[in-house]
Order: sequence, then structure tokens, then C-alpha cells
Amino acid sequence: MSKKLKLLYNKKTILKRVKDLAQQISQDYPSGEIVLIGVLKGGFIFLADLVRALKTSAHIDFVRLASYGASTHSSGKVKIIKDLETSITGKDVIIVEDIIDTGLTLEFLKQELTKRRPRSLKICALLDKKARRKVEIGVDYVGITMEKDCFVVGYGLDFSEQYRNLPEIFFFDP
Ligand code: 5GP
Repeated sequence: MSKKLKLLYNKKTILKRVKDLAQQISQDYPSGEIVLIGVLKGGFIFLADLVRALKTSAHIDFVRLASYGASTHSSGKVKIIKDLETSITGKDVIIVEDIIDTGLTLEFLKQELTKRRPRSLKICALLDKKARRKVEIGVDYVGITMEKDCFVVGYGLDFSEQYRNLPEIFFFDP
């Protein structure tokens, strides 16, 4: 595959925004413990940096979701293929997602987790492709609102399992 990658967000920008998010979250939960739910796989690097910048203590758990029904675009049909290992009932929970596009994945996850009766449930996303949203979904903590409508890779985000290792965020220059 010979795709040309162009830098969209450098290391400094990403880490500054991650630090800002961690500060907001630490302020919002000064005494209590929170459960951070990382959405695999793309959110693993974001979650790792976020948790290390927090001042509050946090439990970590993961879910893995899969879309089905359409291969190229978000179909909105989502299922859990790796569930949480801990109960979130009565707990303050934050879903930590790499990127929100149509919002369909998070709408599904939010509905599923709400059924488990957490005390509170918020969403934290590193990147927000707001212009492409199909469903209204409240995002409580947003790292970067993307001006450009493009497919991005790096910092945990992949294209066919490639590019997750890149420390910065790139887009494909056609
Ligand atoms: P949504 O359901 O909001 O349309 O899709 C969210 C999921 O689609 C993200 O968690 C991510 O896995 C994937 N996704 C959406 N946009 C991008 C992108 O620009 N790059 C990568 N690598 N994945 C994306």
C-alpha cells in the first residue's frame, strides 16, 4: 500500500490537549474514584496518557466493539465482543474513546452501559469529527474538534492494523 501520510496534529498539541482533559477530569472528581472505560483498540494509547496525567485515582477497564452489516461505513449496528470485567453499578464512569465520527458506536455503548445503572456516565473523546455526526450525543470532554473531514491514523488509530505506533496523528493525502 502506498498512501502518503500528512501530519495533522503533532506530539506537543496532542499531549497538551490530553493534559487539559486530565486536569478537567481531576477537577470534576476531586475526591471520588472513577472508572475509565477504554474502547479497544484505538483508544489504548490515549487512555494510557490520560490516566498518567490524572490527579484522581482511576479504575481501568476495557470494552471492544465491532460494527457489523457494512464493511466501509459505520452501519450503526454494533455489538460488544469484549465486555467489562467489573461491575459499574453505582460508580462514576467515563468512556474513553479515540474518535467520534457518526456517533453511532458511542450511542450504542452509552445505551448498553446505562442499563448497568452507573451513578454517572460521561464520554471523553480525543478527536471529534463533529461535522459527520448522525446522532446527537453529548460528549463531556473533547480533546480536539477536527476542522478537516479526513481519515486519521497514528497515536493508537489504525488503518487495517497499521500505523497505531505512530506518535502523532496523520491523515492520508490522496
Ligand atoms: P462512529 O460510530 O462514531 O461513526 O465511529 C467511531 C469509530 O470509528 C471509532 O472508534 C474508530 O474506531 C472508527 N473511526 C472513525 N473515524 C476514524 C478515523 O478517522 N480513523 C480511524 N483510524 N478510525 C476511525
